[in-house]
Amino acid sequence: MWWREPVTSLKGIGTKKALDFQKLNIETVGDLLNHYPRLDSYLDYSKVKKISELTTTNEKQFFAGEIFRLSDRRSGRGSSYAVITVKDDTDFAEIFLFAAQRYQMRFFKPGMQLLVVGKVRAGTAGKMVSEAFIQVVDSNEAASGLGILPVYALAGSLKQGQIRTAVKQALAKAEKYLPETLPEQIIAERNLPDRLTALRNIHFPESFAKLEQAKQRFIFEELFLLQCGLLYYRDHIKESKAGLKHGVDGDLLRAVIAALPFKLTEAQQQAWQEISLDMQDSKPMHRLLQGDVGSGKTAISALALAKTAENGYQGCIMVPTEILAQQHFETLSEYLTPHGLRVELLTGSVKKSKRKAILEDLELGEIDVLVGTHAVIQDDVAFNRLALVITDEQHRFGVAQRAKLSDKSQFAPDTLIMTATPIPRTLALTVYGDLDISVMQGKPIGRKPIETLCYTGKKRPSIYAGMVRQVQAGHQVYVVCALIDDSEGGLQARSATEVYQELKYSYLKKIPCALLHGKMKNQEKDEIMRGFAAGEIKVLVTTTVIEVGVNVPNATLMIIENADRFGLAQMHQLRGRVGRGDEQSYCVLLTDNDSPGTLERLQVLRDSDDGFYLAEKDLEQRGAGQLFGLRQHGLPDLYIADILQDMDILIEARELAKKYIQNRQMLHEIEQALDSQFDKRFQRIFYS
Ligand code: ADP
Ligand code: MG
Repeated sequence: MWWREPVTSLKGIGTKKALDFQKLNIETVGDLLNHYPRLDSYLDYSKVKKISELTTTNEKQFFAGEIFRLSDRRSGRGSSYAVITVKDDTDFAEIFLFAAQRYQMRFFKPGMQLLVVGKVRAGTAGKMVSEAFIQVVDSNEAASGLGILPVYALAGSLKQGQIRTAVKQALAKAEKYLPETLPEQIIAERNLPDRLTALRNIHFPESFAKLEQAKQRFIFEELFLLQCGLLYYRDHIKESKAGLKHGVDGDLLRAVIAALPFKLTEAQQQAWQEISLDMQDSKPMHRLLQGDVGSGKTAISALALAKTAENGYQGCIMVPTEILAQQHFETLSEYLTPHGLRVELLTGSVKKSKRKAILEDLELGEIDVLVGTHAVIQDDVAFNRLALVITDEQHRFGVAQRAKLSDKSQFAPDTLIMTATPIPRTLALTVYGDLDISVMQGKPIGRKPIETLCYTGKKRPSIYAGMVRQVQAGHQVYVVCALIDDSEGGLQARSATEVYQELKYSYLKKIPCALLHGKMKNQEKDEIMRGFAAGEIKVLVTTTVIEVGVNVPNATLMIIENADRFGLAQMHQLRGRVGRGDEQSYCVLLTDNDSPGTLERLQVLRDSDDGFYLAEKDLEQRGAGQLFGLRQHGLPDLYIADILQDMDILIEARELAKKYIQNRQMLHEIEQALDSQFDKRFQRIFYS
């Protein structure tokens, strides 16, 4: 198919330019057509003025003309500049090119037709145009006006004109053959433009009305195929194996609950009830457990694991980091081993001989609970009768990774996904498909709320002095930075490396401190984390690696540097690392950005301790894309749809998708549509 050809098959694109296209993730002609213009910045050349109509108010205006003369001139002060004199049938104008702009002169020749955007004022010899953006057009285009021109994201040395020319060539191929990618019935019912019309109009719109229709079509198409993929994938998994039934809670489970070092909160009891009933059903559980940081999800996972063991099966909990795996292993061992269950830890750093022993026992069914990182989905890990799969902090795992773990079971295992990322309910439903959701609101009682303070960097010295006082009082401190080191493009932000160096030789000269970040080796990270958990390290200068689940109750102060660079929900999660013990804890947000909006935004965090509310604020302020990277969820990127903004369409698309997935004939239409897509991003969900 022509759309799978490399971009170098287009005229004017050689291997060197292809590299620039690659930076935009454009490799094929189809990718190029999927590279939609920046949606809010088309240039409206449809109102091209005659030169005589240009006002000399120094405002930017568009006009067309023919090159009459090119000249190089020299100013009184001796600097040279270039002038292009253009004419149309009404008047002349002079375009001034200064300094670096002058290099363009070599592209121009008298007689060429130009389209010009520039600031126009009255000059000595007629209208004078500066800051001009000049495009050479052929005479037909100039005569008809250029209509509405796309503005594309650029990379490397690419120019707008080059992308436009390339897209035009690609569109010419599409004119000859372009299969439809939405069922005809949907197009007719929703009154959408056909694919070719939409494609033409998203790149070179005939009018803004046509552009709008084109957008609507592609938004619908993306959301529809996304939903078809998700629903299909889930049905497919559900059908392939039998689920299994757990019995009602028995003696073992009652003993585990009774021995917990605390009484379950109401929210925990409610969540446990829901999970327990799911497990007793023969239909496999697919449940998302959302609970704010510190709401006590680990205990719930322990109960589910105990229940599966009580029924003679195995359970596995997969977490994204070694540190977290270690902590869960310790907690779960404490809760479960006294009741005769065997809990083992499997991570990348487990020694070979130990690993071999674990794998053997796992396969023999002698291990009840396996706690681990990605190491648990490696090919040689085999269970005896895996019936429960739990992932913690789910947003770090993709759909495919979870499926890989489930595939290690001869049954359709019960699945529990625990996350502290508060996702608005509608969004969760639509993006996770038909997952059931349990929400644990609130936290175990008796915790003091964390006091949150926001300051500008001027206060830094007194904040650091406060840090030293906390340490002297026997407590521990996190200092969290947005960047690891300056190589990450640390323009104005204080990187962790920098802050660590600075503190180590000043405030923390006599205080044991350490640097911890994601670029370090796992072993090194673990060592530092162990040191901090053991209280040997007093101050940890770190990044968001710390976000996930670490539990050090003696830490009472968190300082977040460049707080304006973080999302509110993210800082809320970070903040959850303190306030885990009995002492009053503090979170200090520092920012060097003194724009009025910044402190206001940070104060939202000071005033609220509700992760769901904060997530919604984030959505308002930053849009879905940032908070909710689809790719992190193992889902394809959307080029034009926005799952929040286009929520209404998403819901409609979902309803239609349900119909299409259930009907063989209709499903076949979808399969064909997937095949004719310019890329395979949706196809991948179907066949993953
Ligand atoms: P998260 O939901 O963030 O994973 P954890 O499971 O780590 O939360 O629990 C946070 C802390 O709260 C732990 O120290 C845990 O022992 C404690 N905890 C959990 N449930 C209760 C409860 N019902 N009462 C008192 N403390 C609890
Ligand atoms: Mg947790």
